This record gives sequence, structure tokens and C-alpha cells, in this order.
Amino acid sequence: MSTNAFYSNKNEAYITYPGNDLGYTYTPESTTFKVWAPSAEQVLLKLYTTGSFYEEGAQVIGIKQMLYDATTGVWSATIDGDLHKTYYTYVIKTEKGTHETQDVYSKAVGVNSARSEIVDLASTNPEGWENDRHVLLDKPNDAIVWEVHVRDFSSSDTSGVSREHRGKFLAFTEKDTVIPFTCFPTCVNYLKKLGVTHVQLNPVFDFGSVDEITGVEYNWGYDPVNYNVPEGSYSTDPYHGEVRIREFKEMVKALHEEGIGIIMDVVYNHVFSTKDSPFEKTVPGYYFRMQDGKFLNSSGCGNVTATDKIMFRKFMIDSLRYWTEEYHIDGFRFDLMACHDIETMNEIRAELDKIDKRIILYGEPWTANDGENGISGEDCCNKANAKKLSSRIGMFNDDMRHGIKGGSDDDSKGFIQGSTHSAYNVIAGMMGASSVTFGNWANEPSQCVTYASAHDNLTLWDKILKSNWCSDFDTTDELYIRQNELSAVLVLMSLGISFFLAGEEFARTKQGDHNSYKSPDSINSINWTRAVRYRKLVDYYKGLIRIRKAFSPLRDNTTKAVNDGYIVYNGQSISLTLRNTAEGEWKMLSVIINNSDNPCQPQIKSQYELPESWVILADKDEAGTEAIGTFSPDMQVSPRSALVIVDKESYDKLSAAKE
Ligand code: CA
Repeated sequence: MSTNAFYSNKNEAYITYPGNDLGYTYTPESTTFKVWAPSAEQVLLKLYTTGSFYEEGAQVIGIKQMLYDATTGVWSATIDGDLHKTYYTYVIKTEKGTHETQDVYSKAVGVNSARSEIVDLASTNPEGWENDRHVLLDKPNDAIVWEVHVRDFSSSDTSGVSREHRGKFLAFTEKDTVIPFTCFPTCVNYLKKLGVTHVQLNPVFDFGSVDEITGVEYNWGYDPVNYNVPEGSYSTDPYHGEVRIREFKEMVKALHEEGIGIIMDVVYNHVFSTKDSPFEKTVPGYYFRMQDGKFLNSSGCGNVTATDKIMFRKFMIDSLRYWTEEYHIDGFRFDLMACHDIETMNEIRAELDKIDKRIILYGEPWTANDGENGISGEDCCNKANAKKLSSRIGMFNDDMRHGIKGGSDDDSKGFIQGSTHSAYNVIAGMMGASSVTFGNWANEPSQCVTYASAHDNLTLWDKILKSNWCSDFDTTDELYIRQNELSAVLVLMSLGISFFLAGEEFARTKQGDHNSYKSPDSINSINWTRAVRYRKLVDYYKGLIRIRKAFSPLRDNTTKAVNDGYIVYNGQSISLTLRNTAEGEWKMLSVIINNSDNPCQPQIKSQYELPESWVILADKDEAGTEAIGTFSPDMQVSPRSALVIVDKESYDKLSAAKE
């Protein structure tokens, strides 16, 4: 970043600071503090023994007047001695009043976030951390993402995780977990067999909606307090900030050891409480978009951050770099990304590229309230503007989601329940929203996150039941399982980045709760016994994942597979045929989805020569990379089912080579 750009921006009310040393810089001999607060009249640094006033031994151990540098807007102070595990705040006096606040650049905090903490980060590294490596795939489209909430993952008794680790970061470090008194795998033990490449964690930064002392309430955590600090309620000790840092790293290391990457859900678009936020207390009125003295609200949560302002944009970049480098995070999912401006997101991409181009970035291409975004519609990261964004910044394809299953919370039907109206959205989505013929809001399939369900709204299973007027959440009615299977085929046999909610593959239910963000564990916890009850469905997902991994055109990040592919819709079934030029793989694959009540005659077309014979890899009962039969074009596809077939010649050749 050029220094000049920072000083010359006409929209900035204050002088800005490009340095990389905001927050504290620790050595065992001394610690230097720097806070950007150009509107302050006075800033005091306060040092404490504890993170809260009611802990044993709580006392103030120092107050120091910080010095202002008018050329940078930065206040600084240096304290001699080893401050590891010392807590601190800033007392900032502006014309809006005097406020005590934690550091905007906090790396650690005490319980419930009130005070920042100085931590020697090197001391938080678990054993072997120096050998921990990012899980980075060649293309974003190689990713198959499983979205999970830290607490849901292990809070149920059925997880088999030890009581003290249930609902915590450390649950991810337990190996060989099973449903108690059975041999059925759970948690990471289950995940490594499922075949997903990444977990996406719902917010794991410090959020405000759960009391870290009692840990009683449940919340998804989309209410940020300190962006650069792990959440305390997921740690075994929320009082001592260094503990949660170490435990978070233990989680990362354990997943990396299984070859699973971690995508972090980041919520830079708003903060939990405007007036209590360290941003607002430090530089009042600067970090949020405002109009006529009022906080705008495109997040739907009472404020929206000003990513178009130099110092917030810089904060985001610094924060993302920090999580990537200090915690070895492999990708980021941006909540309400359309609250952010295009320039910021492209700059984030460029800055993270300096670390590694393979770090995955995608986000929600919408706001909660377009009318209060505070930036021009041409500048926000929505689908209409996708082409102005880097091709390596993805967006959730809500058109495809809608096409697959219908409205997220109502009883409408989508393609999997037999609707013929939504075929167009499905077809465009199968092509990664990158086909000139069928619709291409995306530059390339690398920009398209293909999915049917996420944490928001009804689970896929609950949606399927609602649209079929069924209220037995434990039903094993074949019709509903077939509809779930068709969704799996549409997500995993399409172009784009595959994504699904944890447990979608075992008919996860939230008992019809469409917005469980603060519902109890009884609604949100993953009930691992469903992975047994619906194991045929789990096996179906596993098999499709194996096919996806074996056939690279499905994972093409460019438009080559789109241009080489051929899609036909005959009013009853969709067939997508992809050809492959990669060595050592099947040469042609066709996926046929019949969503009707009747058997249908597939129409398979390609601009390339079609093979004389095919083998079947997936049908209505099973899926995998081993042939389960042969296919001839005069065969019928069963009602409400899919077929995945590959050309027999290359299949036989590859099978022979394996033996
Ligand atoms: Ca918290």
C-alpha cells in the first residue's frame, strides 16, 4: 500500500496511518502501545492485573499518559518490563466524552471482552505448531465445504466427546470419537471419512451475545466485539486470554493433521453494540457509515462498518492477515458481503495473495437492508457487480439454492420436489453461473458457491418436509430421502464450490425452527445418531464426493468445462454432460436428474462424440467411483432419481491400470 494514498483521500476527516504496529508490540523487556485516535484530546493507558474488576487480586497497576503524533494521528506509550498476561485499556477523551475501551487491535481479552490483554503470542503455540501447515488446494473449486457451529459440533451427548470439551474448540482435537457404546464415528473421526476438504466455522472471533462466565445462552455469534480475538465461551478458561488462543490453535492443528482446512466466518459488516464498540469509543463517528448523524443499518443489526474508509479497510486487511498468519486459517467467508465495497474486497484479495493465492475467499452477496448501505449500488459486492470483483472472490448462489428446493422457509417446491418452474435457475447454477447461454452473473465457476442449505433458514430436511406437508422429523420415508439425494447431486455434480450445512447429509433437523440463532442446544446440537439412522444418505454424499474428486471438470475454476459441457432439459429431466481432457481420469461424465413422478428417457448430448457405452456410478440407491452397472441410452431413469454415468472405455482402462 502506498503511503500517499492514505494521506490524500479527500473523504477522510482525519489524517490516517499506514503503519503495521497498531495495538501492542511485545518483547520480554518492554511493550509499546499504539492507538490511532486523531480526534482524541487525551489518551491514557491503564494497566490491570486481571481482565475484570471482580476477579481475585484485581487492581490497577499503572496509568500512563500517551503521547500524540500529529503527523500520524497515533498515540503511543512504552512500558518497561515483561507485561505478558497483563491487562490494559485506553481512556480516550474526545469532544463526545471520555470512554474507557479495549484496544481496537486487541489480540487477547479477559472474560466478556472488557479489557485487552498483552500476551506473548509465541507462548500460546501448541507443541508442534511450527510444523503446522495451511491446507491449501490448487483451485477454490477443489473445496468441498461443511459448515458447522463450534458448539453444535460436539454439545450433544451423542458426540462421544469428553464432557469438559463438549461445545469447545478442544472438541476438534479429540480423535477416534464414537457415539457412546457403539462403533459409529462422530466429530472429526466422522469428518475424515466423509471426504469434505474444509470446515467452515460459524463465528469464532469474540462475540457479545453469550455470557462467557455462565456460558448458558446459545447464539450463532454474528455479533462481533473483538475481531482479532477467539471467542471465550468456546475455551475452557475465558478469564485468561492466552488460553483460548492456545486452544484455538490446537483446533486448527488437529484439523490440519487430518488434511481438513478451516474457513472462518468473518462478520466485519457490523458490531454487537455501536456505543460500546471499541471502534466507536476510540474515534467516535469514524468507523461506521452515517447519514445526518444517524447510524445506517444495512446489516440489519443497528450499524454498518465503513469499509470504504481507509482505517476500517486497513483494519480488515490487518485482521485477515493476522488470522491467516498467526492462526493458519485457510479461507474466509464474509457475512453480508454486499455491505462491503468492491475496492476493499479486491484489495483484500491482493493483500492475501501476498501470503498465498490459494487462500479461499467468498461471501454472501447481499445486505440485510439495501436502502441503508451508505455506498452506491455500483460499489457493493452483490451478484450484479460480481464481474468487477476478482474471480477468486466467490459468492453464494442463492438463485441455485432457490431453484433446488424453493423458498427457504415456506412450503413452496423447487426442482427436487418436482417443480418445473425452477429448472432454469438449476441449469444456470449447474454451469457455475458462468454460462453465456444460461446466465452468467459470475466471471467463472470459481466465483460461484453452489449450495442448497446453510445455517440460516430451515435445514434442507426441514424444508423438504415442510414442502411435503410432513411434520415427522424422524421419518425415513423414501420420497423425502430421494429429494435430499437429488439436492446432493445438484450441489456436488455441478460446477462451482460445493458447500453444505453440517448434517445436511444425515437429514439434520432443527424441528422446523427456521431461525435458530438463539435457540437452545436441544434444537441446534448435532444429533450424531442421525448419521446412523440415515447412513444410506451419508453414504450417498460420500460417494458423490468421491466422484467429484475423481473428475476434474466438475472442479474447473475456469469456463473451459462450461464451454465443453452440454446441458439438456426436456421438461422432465436435466442432463449435464462434461468432457474431460485430463490424463488418468474418465473422459466423459453425464449426470441426469429426473425430478418427475415418472420414469424418463434421458437426452444426453455433447458437441463431442458420445461414447458407445457407459457405466453407472450413481443411481437412486448408491453412489461411488465403482461401477454399479452399465448404461445404454435407451434405458429409463427412475422417478425422482439421478444417474451419474461415465464412459466405459476410459473407466475400464483406469480400472485395469489400478489392478
Ligand atoms: Ca465473547
